[in-house]
Amino acid sequence: MFLFRNATVVTMDDAHTVLTGADVLVIGETIAGIGTGLTAPEGATVIDASGGILMPGMIDTHRHMWQTAMRGYGADWSLTQYFVWYYLEHGKTFRPEDVYAGNLLAALEAIDAGVTTTVDWSHGLQTTQHADAAVDALQAVPGRFVLAYGNIQQGPWEWSAAPEFRDFVARRFTPGDDMLGFQMAFDVTGDPAFPEKAAFEVARELGVSVTTHAGVWGATNDDGIRLMHEHKFMTPGTVYVHAATLNDDSYQRIAATGGSVSVSTESEQSAGQGYPPTWALRRHGIPVSLSMDTSVWWSGDLFSAMRTTLGADRSREHLEAHARSETVTNVHLRAEQVVDWATRGGSRALGLDAKVGSLEVGKKADIVLLRNESSPVMFPVLNPYGHVAFQAQRGDVEAVLVNGRIVKRDHKLVDVDLAAARTAVENTIDHLRSTMGEQAWVKGMNPDVPEAKVTDNPYTYTEYDAGSAEWKH
Ligand SMILES: [Zn+2]
Repeated sequence: MFLFRNATVVTMDDAHTVLTGADVLVIGETIAGIGTGLTAPEGATVIDASGGILMPGMIDTHRHMWQTAMRGYGADWSLTQYFVWYYLEHGKTFRPEDVYAGNLLAALEAIDAGVTTTVDWSHGLQTTQHADAAVDALQAVPGRFVLAYGNIQQGPWEWSAAPEFRDFVARRFTPGDDMLGFQMAFDVTGDPAFPEKAAFEVARELGVSVTTHAGVWGATNDDGIRLMHEHKFMTPGTVYVHAATLNDDSYQRIAATGGSVSVSTESEQSAGQGYPPTWALRRHGIPVSLSMDTSVWWSGDLFSAMRTTLGADRSREHLEAHARSETVTNVHLRAEQVVDWATRGGSRALGLDAKVGSLEVGKKADIVLLRNESSPVMFPVLNPYGHVAFQAQRGDVEAVLVNGRIVKRDHKLVDVDLAAARTAVENTIDHLRSTMGEQAWVKGMNPDVPEAKVTDNPYTYTEYDAGSAEWKH
C-alpha cells in the first residue's frame, strides 16, 4: 500500500481533472482513492509528494528496444543509413543475447523515465530464440510491455506462417495479460500483389493488432493504406507509425476505420520519414499516441516527445501562416493535449484504456511522481500541463509505480540490476564491433558530411581581404 501526500494531481481522466494538495492511495495493484486528506491505512507507505506533480505513467507505442544496445551510435544518420546498417548489413549479426541486452537496457530506461508501458516494436526477431530472448528481457524488468513481433530479414508472410511462430505465441502470451501484450509488427510495401495479406490473416486469426510503419518517405506510402483498406484489414486496433507522408485520402481511411497514429516527432524530424504529422492528424480527427522509435539516435524519454511534438506542430502552423502573410495569434496545439497523447493516447491505441492511462479509482496503479527538491526548475508549478511538457525532464522523475509496485523511489530504480544490463550490453558491443571490424565500426558512426558552401554575400563589414588572407587596418 502506498499513499502519496499533497501533490498536484494531473489525473488525465475524461474531464482532465487537476487537483491540488491532493493524495493518491494505492492498494495492491489498484488506485483505491484520490482526494484531499485521505487517511493512511495501517501499513501503508506514505510518500511525501508536496510540491510535486503526480501523473499517469506514460505510454510509448513504438520503440525498437533491441536497438538500445547501440545507444547513440547513429546520432548523425539519415533514415537511409539506418536502413542500410540494420536491414541490409548488420541487423542479421544480432544474436538472441544481443536482443536480450538491448531490450533489458531499454526496459530499464523506460521505467526510469516514467514510461510505464512500452511497445517493443521488435523487428529483429530472426528466430524464435531471438523472440524468447526479447520476452525474457521484458519479463526481467517490472514494467508493462507489449511485444510487437517482427522480422526485417523475412517477409511477414514468411515468418508469420512458421509453426514455431505460432508455438512461440502460444507459449509466451496469455490473452488479457495486461503486463505483457502482443502485436504483430510489419510494413506494407504497396506491392499490388499485396503479399502482406497472409500476415494480416494470421493477426486476425490470433485476434491481435497490427502495428505498421505507414507514410514513411521512400519506404511506405498511400498504396499500402489503400491495399489494407480494400482488403478490410484497417481496424480500430491498428497503429500506424509515423503516417507522415500520406495524402488526405489515406488519412480519411485511417480516421474512418478507427485506427490511431504513433507519432515519433524526434525521429521524423531527424531521420526524414516526413514532417511530424500532428498538424494533419488534428485536421482529420485521428487519435495520436507518442513514441521514441529507437535509441540508436534518441533516448526513450517521452518528455522529449511531448516537447518536440509541441514545437513541430506550432512551427508548422506559424510557417504556413507566414506563407499566407498571416500571424498566428492563438496556437491550436496545447500542452494539455500532448500530455493526453503521452498517456491516454497510448492507452487507447493499445486497447488498455480501461486499465491504465489515467489516475482514476479502480484503474491499475501506474503512477509517476515528478518532484525534484534540488532543481530550480521544479517550482513554481503554475501550469501543470505546461510544466510536464516544457519544464520537467527524466531527472525529475522521483518515484514510479507500475501495477502498484514501486520501481523507482528517491530518483533511483528499485531492485534493479543495472550492472547486469551493463555487462550484457558490453558483450553485445564487443560482438558487433569484432564482427564488423574496427574500420566499418568507426565509419558506420561517422557518415560522410555532404559538401556545403557558404552563400555568396555582396556585403562586407570588415576590410578583410579573403584573397590575401590578411587583416588590413
Ligand atoms: Zn520505427
